[in-house]
Amino acid sequence: MRENFSRKREAILRVVESTKCHPSAEWVYERIRKEHPDVSLATVYRNLKRFCEKGCVRSIGVVNGQERFDADTSPHSHFICRSCGAVLDIPETPFTPEALGEIGARHGLRVERSDVRFAGLCGKCAAKVQNKS
Ligand SMILES: [Zn+2]
Ligand SMILES: [Zn+2]
Repeated sequence: MRENFSRKREAILRVVESTKCHPSAEWVYERIRKEHPDVSLATVYRNLKRFCEKGCVRSIGVVNGQERFDADTSPHSHFICRSCGAVLDIPETPFTPEALGEIGARHGLRVERSDVRFAGLCGKCAAKVQNKS
């Protein structure tokens, strides 16, 4: 029973780690239920939140009404397409650790990290807009 439980948890983590699309719980659930038909969407979501607490997955925040997750916890920024909701990795982090330290000192805070979200249109959506006009 216990083993079965952790095997499902591992399968959920593997699905998140296998993609760069920054999936929602629904996206993970669609893939997991082919192999594990008894896993519910609520279980997938609960496990994703637990991975976030443990630090092996991070939450990107809500995009088009769905929370999105990332198994890449290394420092990087995200670009979010306002049209299709694509979440893309941007390797640049606008703030160096020194800059974070300065900002923290200026405001009397201990800044540990910064999550920067760039917004606009992805390449595909920008091309669509251009073709229309
Ligand atoms: Zn797009
Ligand atoms: Zn990412």
